[in-house]
Amino acid sequence: MKPLTLDGSTGEGGGQILRTGLALSMVTGRPLHITRIRAGRPKPGLMRQHLACVQAAVAVCGGQAEGAELNSQTLVFTPGAVRAGDYRFQIATAGSCLLVLQTVLPALMLADGDSQVQLSGGTHNPMAPPFDFLERAFAPLVRRLGVGLELQLQRRGFYPAGGGELVARITPTSATMQPLAPVDLLERGPLHNAWGEALVPGLTRNIATRELEALGQRMGWTFESGQLRQPPTRQNEGPGNALIATLEHAHVTEVFCQLGERHLSAEQVAKRLVDEVRAYQRSSGALGPHLADQWMLPLALAVWRSGRAARYTCSEVTQHTATNAQTIALGLPVRVQITPVERAMQVEIQ
Ligand code: ATP
Repeated sequence: MKPLTLDGSTGEGGGQILRTGLALSMVTGRPLHITRIRAGRPKPGLMRQHLACVQAAVAVCGGQAEGAELNSQTLVFTPGAVRAGDYRFQIATAGSCLLVLQTVLPALMLADGDSQVQLSGGTHNPMAPPFDFLERAFAPLVRRLGVGLELQLQRRGFYPAGGGELVARITPTSATMQPLAPVDLLERGPLHNAWGEALVPGLTRNIATRELEALGQRMGWTFESGQLRQPPTRQNEGPGNALIATLEHAHVTEVFCQLGERHLSAEQVAKRLVDEVRAYQRSSGALGPHLADQWMLPLALAVWRSGRAARYTCSEVTQHTATNAQTIALGLPVRVQITPVERAMQVEIQ
């Protein structure tokens, strides 16, 4: 089979080209040749996080990988047949569990049986989807394609300590006896519920109170209405801090997250989060910027398998999304068209 050849310096030149490439290789059976891996990043090549994704891909399909070493800028991945089953992946140095799941989910959602994937590492990492986003925003959309996806958080893990644990249960369409069906997501629909929550495991509660007060002032949310929350933390979690806003609309739930950092005040964390939420609210797009890049591959698989086109609107097309569109169009027989519409961008896959 003709290999899928990717130039890792394309567009944004980040780790997403690798993760999407691995996923595409597993679902199509085409070998993957990728060069100049993460050439657009200050430290190019495979970091531990990316190696964990390669190793997970190898495990899930019994594949082979040449060049799977730290700092390697070239990878030749030869996929085998994807095997449903029970997997356990430990991601060292608090790498993101969710990015590893993002790599193997497309293959497992098209496999011939149920899978359970246990992951340990980071669940709330910089530059990665936080668990809450995957659970509330991403997984419900995947379920609308006809795939079963249940996520269970056992313990939160923050960078750099890690120690998080989660389980993903995936029931592919073959087991639900439904075809993989694409869905259009053009409007978010009326707002049903909106709230903010502050996670501060292992840190003083005062940080959470200040973040929530600042968030509440700007968003018009109050403690009394239940719109400002401080969820309980589990033993051995943290230290870490995340401030999360959830907007439940009729057709989509969006989750925005800012992580606390040293030398960044609680008020600044809240301001950054509000800026993100406001940017989404100014647009009419159904999906926010992160959901827009992560939704593209599952939807493209549904379009490919069903032969039916699908569209979605989003608040913006980041360079990340544009690069993902290019990668997907190289790996699957689909076209991805991005056009501006009123106060949003529209992505059409056919
Ligand atoms: P690197 O090359 O350094 O590994 P990358 O390209 O893998 O970078 P990013 O571009 O930062 O990493 O994005 C990784 C993924 O995490 C993307 O799918 C992005 O949408 C997602 N992501 C990052 N931050 C958030 C967030 N706050 N909420 C949801 N998803 C997020």
